[in-house]
Amino acid sequence: MMIAADTSPPFPPERAERYLREGLWSGETLGDALRAAAATHGDRTALVTADARYTYRELDEATERFAAGVLAATPLEPGDRVMFQMGNVAETVVAYYGAIKAGLVPVCTLPQHGEREIEQLATHVEARGHIVQGDLRSGALVESAQRLTTAIEGLDTVIVARDAAPAGTHGFETLVEAGTAPNAHALLPTIDPAGLVVFQLSGGTTGLPKVAPRRHREYLYNARAWAQALELTPDDVVLHPLPIMHNAGTSAALQPAHLCGATCIVAPGAEAGAVLDLVARERVTTIPVVPPAVAIRLLDQLEIRPADLSSLRRFYVGGQKPTVELMVRLETALGIPAQQMFGMAEGMFLLTPPDADPWVRLHTVGTPISPADEVRVLDVVDEVEVPDGELGELACRGPYTINGYHRAERHNATAFTSDGFYRTGDLVTRHVVDGRPYYSIDGRIKDVINRGAEKIHADELEEVLATHPGVRNAAVVAMPDEVLGERVCAYLIPTPGAGQLTVETVAQFLLGSGVAKFKLPERIEVVPTFPLTNIGKVSKKDLRADIERKLEDEKVLA
Ligand code: AMP
Repeated sequence: MMIAADTSPPFPPERAERYLREGLWSGETLGDALRAAAATHGDRTALVTADARYTYRELDEATERFAAGVLAATPLEPGDRVMFQMGNVAETVVAYYGAIKAGLVPVCTLPQHGEREIEQLATHVEARGHIVQGDLRSGALVESAQRLTTAIEGLDTVIVARDAAPAGTHGFETLVEAGTAPNAHALLPTIDPAGLVVFQLSGGTTGLPKVAPRRHREYLYNARAWAQALELTPDDVVLHPLPIMHNAGTSAALQPAHLCGATCIVAPGAEAGAVLDLVARERVTTIPVVPPAVAIRLLDQLEIRPADLSSLRRFYVGGQKPTVELMVRLETALGIPAQQMFGMAEGMFLLTPPDADPWVRLHTVGTPISPADEVRVLDVVDEVEVPDGELGELACRGPYTINGYHRAERHNATAFTSDGFYRTGDLVTRHVVDGRPYYSIDGRIKDVINRGAEKIHADELEEVLATHPGVRNAAVVAMPDEVLGERVCAYLIPTPGAGQLTVETVAQFLLGSGVAKFKLPERIEVVPTFPLTNIGKVSKKDLRADIERKLEDEKVLA
């Protein structure tokens, strides 16, 4: 079996040399960093989940055993890619770090992804392994993983955590046990710090989620830069209530905490009451990424019942633009500066400093977390920078921003500028306040719906909708939502004589086609034609205006 070659765009040598020379990158791998943290902070609590607690020593040992066991007892070899469909449980963290120590490359998919998405992504990254959480969705992930081994050439290893492993698959616990065999540890490879560490899924700008190739030394630096920006210490307790395999989970919560000897709480979900209970019980100090929808629910819950938030020192709203009213409400309720973050799987993060001017805290996502991050605000059609205070496309480059997506040469040619700046598809304005640049997010040019910080690509849904026998043409747009920010609205032109197209029938069809549930349209508008732009393309701007108007009218009538 051939191990897939690392063909992802590397960093240009002159920049790589600079980051090494400036001490931003080191010769360490992510596995080395965890080992070093365990050597320094052995007895401190590293990880808390709903049903497990690990000290640094225990986490290091468990991940070492999983790494050795997976190489000893499965066909997987260093360099192989492994799809992850695991929720917020301890086994996810052990398998994630363990796979990395074994030289495997976790592909950060989610349990929520549908079989179609997993199949396309697994094929794209030439995955050989698939690890699933057996006790989710009544075992459906196990069945799906087994089906995919026959559908995808080269995918031959299924690992099942938290449930019995059917014949032909490998149990997570069995692998951890296999890692204790006398010579298993000798199988652990020497890992190149310049090599791939994970494949993250990007919200991207078009099509199926793009695959962001992250490498040990830049990913490690990304976590260090976060830890420094947050000023984390071993006494900190960092809570992540969203999917931990998201880039925000690994880069902004798990890894920064573990570089510093802090505790990371991987919460099973973002339900407001449970999050508030955790903050009080575990004396949480830091919640690095809170989508506006979650912040709203927390505030609503706080109005119903008090909660002990006295330990909380940092709370960042991000992933999606919050309203100023929400930020003001948060400052009042939490009694700490309400801060914002902006992030993406491609790399660069921005944060508002706690001591920034109140206007900056309320209106901007702050400034990049690393002084080596380079930001340009570009004219949307060429590579010219627009003046401060004017709207343009956010573009970035730096010591932890990728130089290109995996196997996407054509897309890379337009998604990156000629000198390697990633064009994010986000519209921003640079504001210089007291001599420092801060950025406000003021729009988007990419055709993506941001539903509570989960990204949904319009063209991906349109492609599947177009295969519906009753649909002649489909156009998917965002409709505003007070809580989730945006939801999906599908405009459909029916084929003559087609049956009824409703939210329910369309959902059934999309689920049957292997589309993830969180991407389903929550409103269907059946129309005879689409409005067109002056160059004959479907005018999404007009469709968005149409649905906004309808929602306003309905509010008035209600
Ligand atoms: P992802 O790669 O899924 O993390 O998505 C990254 C995208 O999320 C960015 O390019 C933005 O479109 C959006 N995003 C992230 N943080 C914010 C924020 N604070 N405000 C507005 N949009 C955001």
